[in-house]
Amino acid sequence: MSDAMKPHGREVCREEIPEGLTVPEDERLRAMLTRLKLTAIRERLDTLLDEAAGKGLSFRQTFYHLCRTEVEHKDARRTVMGMSIAHFPCVRDLEGFDYGARTSVDRRQMEELSAGRWIAGGENLLFLGPPGVGKTHLAIALGRKAIERGYTTLFTNAVSLLTQLVRAQGEGKLEERLAWYAKPKLLIVDELGYLPLESGAGHLFFQLVSRRYERGSLLITSNRAVGEWGMVFDDAVVATAILDRLLHHSIVVTIRGESYRLREKRRSGMIRNDAPDTAAETAKETPAGI
Ligand code: ADP
Ligand code: MG
Repeated sequence: MSDAMKPHGREVCREEIPEGLTVPEDERLRAMLTRLKLTAIRERLDTLLDEAAGKGLSFRQTFYHLCRTEVEHKDARRTVMGMSIAHFPCVRDLEGFDYGARTSVDRRQMEELSAGRWIAGGENLLFLGPPGVGKTHLAIALGRKAIERGYTTLFTNAVSLLTQLVRAQGEGKLEERLAWYAKPKLLIVDELGYLPLESGAGHLFFQLVSRRYERGSLLITSNRAVGEWGMVFDDAVVATAILDRLLHHSIVVTIRGESYRLREKRRSGMIRNDAPDTAAETAKETPAGI
């Protein structure tokens, strides 16, 4: 036992007190649990020990029971923190995704992606497709799963990300901002290509993609096929350089189908059933996304 465990030079867990600890010893035990940051055990110590005694658990099983309680508590707290740091615009999950909705999204693939192996391997994921087919929904849902699996995640919109980078560059703080966006294990960039980007934005995006290359995953949603990214960045050379890195280790999911929003409206009778489909609907959709 280390000296730290022997306040006033005395061992805390002496063998001669099998019945339990004396009051000062119990206080010292709680102080040690505080110092070791085992707060869940500290808060529920009596209950947990009573439960263990009630079930007739061995010492090793009791220790397991205590450790599991602490680990579950820490995981739950980390998940809550992670969700708030991620800045998701709303809550969406895979369980709420309707695969029956005339969509090309494959349930098995989404479940596989939710396991997060692509994030562990630093791969990128692209969701491409017209508005309303669930790209943002799936991006948030996978982001939430990633956090539950312990991956730090940040959700941002492409325009806001690039506005931040352009501004930071103007203020001489580009390095700081790039480091900020390079930090999370998963960075979700939503709606690339919906709105025109500021000039020079392509170069800044390239720097970000290079910095994250093979280190952290990017999940990008876009209504533009990758062949159109030259137009998105208003610079074909930069777009090629971005795609070169982005697509090197990547999974590209192209979603086809009807806009879910319009489908709902059609179902509720707000739109006629013979109303024109996808192309016209796409034009009518707001670019704001979700
Ligand atoms: P996109 O990002 O492709 O434009 P969104 O993910 O924003 O589309 O979807 C628009 C709305 O429709 C959201 O509220 C989303 O939750 C919902 N939605 C889209 N597809 C589905 C689906 N297959 N099942 C359930 N909800 C869906
Ligand atoms: Mg969207």
